[in-house]
Amino acid sequence: MTTTRKKKSALRILPGVAGGHEGLPGKKAPPRGPSAPKRRRLPLEELVEGVLAGDRVLLARAITLVESNADRDFEQAQEMLKRLLPHTGGSLRVGITGVPGAGKSTFIEALGLQLIGEGKKVGVTAVDPTSTRTGGSILGDKTRMERLAADPRAFIRPSPTGGALGGVGRKTRETVLLLEAAGFDVILVETVGVGQSEVTVRSMVDFFLLMLVAGAGDELQGIKRGVVELADAVLIHKADGDNIKRAQTTRNDYKHALHYLQPATEGWTVPVLTASSLTGEGIGEIWSTAERFRKETTISGVFEQRRSEQARDWVHAMVQDHLHSKFKAHPKVKALLPELEKAVMAGELPATTAASQLLDAFFGKKT
Ligand code: GDP
Repeated sequence: MTTTRKKKSALRILPGVAGGHEGLPGKKAPPRGPSAPKRRRLPLEELVEGVLAGDRVLLARAITLVESNADRDFEQAQEMLKRLLPHTGGSLRVGITGVPGAGKSTFIEALGLQLIGEGKKVGVTAVDPTSTRTGGSILGDKTRMERLAADPRAFIRPSPTGGALGGVGRKTRETVLLLEAAGFDVILVETVGVGQSEVTVRSMVDFFLLMLVAGAGDELQGIKRGVVELADAVLIHKADGDNIKRAQTTRNDYKHALHYLQPATEGWTVPVLTASSLTGEGIGEIWSTAERFRKETTISGVFEQRRSEQARDWVHAMVQDHLHSKFKAHPKVKALLPELEKAVMAGELPATTAASQLLDAFFGKKT
């Protein structure tokens, strides 16, 4: 990816190949468009050294490699990750979610600029759930991170496109590792509120921030309770001008509601904060909250425990995704599925019978 493109659209989703292929090998690479440049394959050593040296061009190439759906790229990417793994883990991984228009990109730029002002290196990436269906467009037309994107201490990578959410999640997770190996201190992972993608991002970050907007209707209704339960902090955003009062009211409502919910992280009380990315008010407090979170959970051991559990769960998630896509692509399963689904929906066949017939077809058992 070129710098110009990044400048133009910080988290714009690049046009991708719609649907189908997964993040694990076993499927053919999607056809490349005529405009896709043919590039020399770089030796592994060059990529590894480049990433470790923080070389932006080579880092971008390394990310492209982990995002590739081609079998031979997959193997090279895994070998590269294996070598880089000892150099990963040093960042604070922060997830940010909120409905479109909540102000996520404006906030990421405001926070990112503050962090680089403190001498930190900031990586930004995203999980766009729509990329699994459409090739990605919901985060299109992003122009608000121009200043951050132009700064050499920041690196912005849009969400990978194509494939199921599991595949997109794997690629983003591996991108986070590459950014860490390249020396980024803080990694912000953005997603957009539709439920499943929040769970995906939660599973790859240390600290998860839920962004709401005051005065945008009944937030307690609009946001799924399950998503609130994933959060380590709730931010009532756009607390400026006429909105300040409403933000305070929303804050109190949430404080009250959270009282009855289980915190996402053991031993941590979820704070409800207000901030404005336009005035900068409250941005510093959000960061100090994230740092306090890191400090307290490191002392209690919860920080490391979560990371190791995330790594373990990731293995299971990948196996599950891979098996599921193989299952769905199996010719016999594909042939049987429509009529079985129809029969189950019409109440003519027990769901269990349909499931076992499909599994028999998949495993090649005679029925
Ligand atoms: P995203 O879709 O969540 O990434 O939201 P954007 O960052 O694109 O912002 C959506 C709109 O909200 C834009 O018009 C922003 O200018 C505006 N906005 C973002 N942050 C603030 C804020 O702190 N206060 C106010 N009043 N508006 C904001």
